Amino acid sequence: MSTSTMRLAIVGAGPAGIYAADLLSKAERDFEVEIDLFEQLPAPYGLVRYGVSPDHPRIKGIINALRDVLDSGIIRYFGNVRYGEDITLADLKKHYHAVIFSTGAIRDAGLDVPGIDAAGSYGAAEFVSWFDGHPDVPRTWPLEAREVGVIGNGNVALDISRMLIKHADDLLPTEIPTNVYEGLKANPIEELHLFGRRGPKYVKFTPLELRELGEVRDVDMVIDERDFDREDAYADEVLSKNKQVLVMTRIMDKWRQDQREREANGERASRRLHMHFWSKPVEVVVEDGRVAGLKIERTAPDGNGGVIDTGEFEVIPMQSLYRAIGYFGSPLDEIPFDEQRGVIPNEQGRVQDLAGERIPGVYATGWIKRGPIGLIGHTKSDAMETLECLLEDRDSWWQPEVPQAEAIPAMLHAREVPYTTIDGWHRLDEHELGLGAAEGRTRIKVVPRDEMTRIARGE
Ligand code: NAP
Repeated sequence: MSTSTMRLAIVGAGPAGIYAADLLSKAERDFEVEIDLFEQLPAPYGLVRYGVSPDHPRIKGIINALRDVLDSGIIRYFGNVRYGEDITLADLKKHYHAVIFSTGAIRDAGLDVPGIDAAGSYGAAEFVSWFDGHPDVPRTWPLEAREVGVIGNGNVALDISRMLIKHADDLLPTEIPTNVYEGLKANPIEELHLFGRRGPKYVKFTPLELRELGEVRDVDMVIDERDFDREDAYADEVLSKNKQVLVMTRIMDKWRQDQREREANGERASRRLHMHFWSKPVEVVVEDGRVAGLKIERTAPDGNGGVIDTGEFEVIPMQSLYRAIGYFGSPLDEIPFDEQRGVIPNEQGRVQDLAGERIPGVYATGWIKRGPIGLIGHTKSDAMETLECLLEDRDSWWQPEVPQAEAIPAMLHAREVPYTTIDGWHRLDEHELGLGAAEGRTRIKVVPRDEMTRIARGE
């Protein structure tokens, strides 16, 4: 580093990027830092704004901590700037000492079963983007099915199941965009089928989120008692000692008891959520090009935490199907990409080429580094690891030809990129809060990209 100021570019303004900036600003060091945070969307916060369900205000509240970092004066924010189009790797090398990519994982992992591409079959990420008002997805969503399937036993499957099965009016106090409320209001769903390929003790849900599913108004939780009577040494010896598993078992036991009481009293809610465990998806049944059902094979425990096939098949009728089997990262221009895992290949955050050779000056953090697992808080320790490497590598940082801070806005201006700033984000934020206040709601999100940009830029 030739000057006493280190200039760092961070690409991706979700929690991972913002935590990395925060940690660097507070790290023990003998030089000044200047951090520029680039984001392809006009608004910051990544999956907290566009991935967390609107009925999870507690998790959305993480935005307050992220906002404090953005407002602390240590970061310049450049929103609506696309890496690979508006700004390239060569630009970054010319202006910064290093870059950290924190672009997350926003695509759906693929499911290789026949019929998965039929009309009416969707990835969870697409649906989440719609209900969270992501500017780059269509404004309308085809909610026309009376019977719906959701594959996966993780928290994303819970999120989309809740959003599909809840009555729209119960979501009105949240920040859902108006078009989303209207779409959900017309949702004719009556039966939702949630599929796990392993058993009830193997779920990847977390207890709080599972309990919440059972508390949704006017929805009966329907359990298949066959799923609870398997001999399973692994579950008994290993999983039953896990506190989270114990709590979730108790939650499901309560649902089973409620079900027995409902049956005895002849009670029935207007919507039902059926949990199917030991059910591996094998084929989407397609009629006239559309989803008509899901064929599953019943599985059984193999004694080591996995499953074996039983050769017993069932078809559950449905008119739409969502797969919530994990997210997947997207490749970035001129940066190596592991197509198998959907991540940037790296060692503790130091990016490597596909042969395992280190690429100086290039780092990764968050889901694009480690894959789409873990809660938002885990991203902090991940960012710490990347930063420790970055600070250790001082001798191999880039030597920027043009290290002047003002060169960046000048370059974007010359390229006619309508970028947004922190002040612009505050304008948009206040605008959305104002729209919400006028209707007695917390916030109403602005969805179209050009409208977001126009408001943020005060145009
Ligand atoms: P996840 O927790 O990894 O769950 C993925 C689920 O998909 C698992 O049940 C997995 O089953 C199943 N699956 C994978 N491949 C499958 C296949 N081929 N066929 C059938 N099932 C398959 O992933 P996620 O739900 O996308 O969540 C990602 C992370 O975000 C997690 O850490 C999650 O906790 C977090 N998150 C948290 C919240 C919250 O409210 N706190 C909300 C959303 C997400 P196996 O277990 O058998 O592999």
